[in-house]
Amino acid sequence: MTATIIDGKAFAGRVRDRVGAHVARLKEEHGITPGLAVVLVGDDPASDVYVRSKGKMTKAVGMLSLEYRLKADVAQDEVLRLVGDLNANPEVHGILVQLPLPRHMEESRILAAIDPAKDVDGFHISNVGLLSTGQRAMVPCTPLGCLMMLRDHHGDLTGMDAVVIGRSNIVGKPMAQLLLGESCTVTIAHSRTRNLPEVVRRADIVVAAVGRPKMVTGDWIKPGATVIDVGINRTDNGLVGDVDFDSASQVAGAITPVPGGVGPMTIACLLANTVTACCRANGLAEPDGLTV
Ligand code: NDP
Repeated sequence: MTATIIDGKAFAGRVRDRVGAHVARLKEEHGITPGLAVVLVGDDPASDVYVRSKGKMTKAVGMLSLEYRLKADVAQDEVLRLVGDLNANPEVHGILVQLPLPRHMEESRILAAIDPAKDVDGFHISNVGLLSTGQRAMVPCTPLGCLMMLRDHHGDLTGMDAVVIGRSNIVGKPMAQLLLGESCTVTIAHSRTRNLPEVVRRADIVVAAVGRPKMVTGDWIKPGATVIDVGINRTDNGLVGDVDFDSASQVAGAITPVPGGVGPMTIACLLANTVTACCRANGLAEPDGLTV
């Protein structure tokens, strides 16, 4: 069997088009421009690339893009003050503090300072709680993108066996919550899981979010399963995922490539979350299909 390739790059383009159309409608019908503020502390080169690309895409869909770059040795109170100003700024509907933060900062304190209604990363403890109790939340972008692709490919996910490998707060756990919300039977695997290949072999849906190049091989995959590869690993041979694409794509029914799978969906979902936050803040109908 050779798997269908789930083209995240093309899908992300369609999501951005839908976001752009909704932004145009908000401007035309209500005179509102959704705004996204991104805060970057320090000069980590990878973070710099992400922030630039977020700014570019935010503008491309017609939204207001605000960028705040602070020195690595800035006092934590100054970051908290900036977050407070952005919370109070009516032009800003989404706030994203780029992680990782410098070591002297308490990440949890800064994330907790963001107004949950503007928390477009979905990392605030209130949004974590809302998601896990099945209520309307801001949903973390990467798992949201994975779910959009799964829904698009399968339609109804009810009753499917899903294995999420990885239990981080930003990918694994929210991904598992979303799949549970779709009535999947969900297993969360991690570094202490016994007989991981056997666990994965039971899955109709595998989401790999580990950070280990090509760890999941074709012999772990149930024939016909759908494989979502979240991993981004920089190797001497370029970017690779957590899944060994060559062997897995011979067995899976559908698979996301790396690059060109989950990655592009993450930024598209950030834009989607910003429009959603803007609609909620203004008591307007949310765009269809851009959130859960
Ligand atoms: P973390 O390092 O926070 O979490 C990794 C998880 O994998 C942990 O739960 C860990 O288990 C588990 N794990 C590690 N080794 C093994 C193993 N041998 N077997 C089973 N499980 C294992 O990573 P993130 O969740 O932040 O990211 C995961 C990957 O996704 C990375 O490659 C990252 O770059 C990528 N990523 C991609 C994004 C995108 O936009 N495409 C966005 C975010 C992340 P334990 O908890 O027991 O330590």
